[in-house]
Amino acid sequence: MVRVRVLVVEDEPAIAELIAIHLRHAGFEAVLAASAEQAQAALDAVLPDLVLLDWMLPGATGVELTRRWRQAPRSRELPILLLTARAEEKDKIAGLDAGADDYLIKPFSPGELLARIRAVLRRRAPMASDTVIEMAGLRLDPSTRRVHHGTTECRLGPTEFKLLHYLMTHPEHVHSRPQLLDRVWGDHVFIEERTVDVHIKRLREALQPVDCAQWIETVRGMGYRITHKGAP
Ligand code: CA
Repeated sequence: MVRVRVLVVEDEPAIAELIAIHLRHAGFEAVLAASAEQAQAALDAVLPDLVLLDWMLPGATGVELTRRWRQAPRSRELPILLLTARAEEKDKIAGLDAGADDYLIKPFSPGELLARIRAVLRRRAPMASDTVIEMAGLRLDPSTRRVHHGTTECRLGPTEFKLLHYLMTHPEHVHSRPQLLDRVWGDHVFIEERTVDVHIKRLREALQPVDCAQWIETVRGMGYRITHKGAP
């Protein structure tokens, strides 16, 4: 399993460090940013799996950043958890209205922080969780990295596994090649778009023995999707 990368945007060094320690202890990768500008730079460099975003920051508020990131195609689906000392109802509503996924009021316990992070990841980024995914008899287990159809195991390479994992967590959606590169390969890696086609072909070959190859559809001029509708 690839480690979940959490961007911690917090201008108070003691709090940022403490959060980072808890995150790393729980197996997450923590990247720190101390201002709106640093946060934007970190996000432009590598898209994280989740952002912990302080409300009051030098440069911009967490709410402003949330709004900005929700408008950019690249960060539109980025899971965002706002951290704040503001406990008022109207502030909470402003944060959620801006597009934050959840809201933590300081001071919070490490246990609560981790539980909220896991809940947001389950909701927004199913690929970052170890939940077993099943689709019409095809079963993918992220913790064992195995794929079965009935009792037959499909042998997949690591990239084909990630590709199938992503497609199965977003069934019926059409994904363009750039989107798949972004989500499956990681957007900080420069790879040509036709690489996607190569791995789609390998994935179909791996699914052929269990008769699921035709689930991976090419949508002309758009990209790929997984569907079992219309399958015999
Ligand atoms: Ca602050």
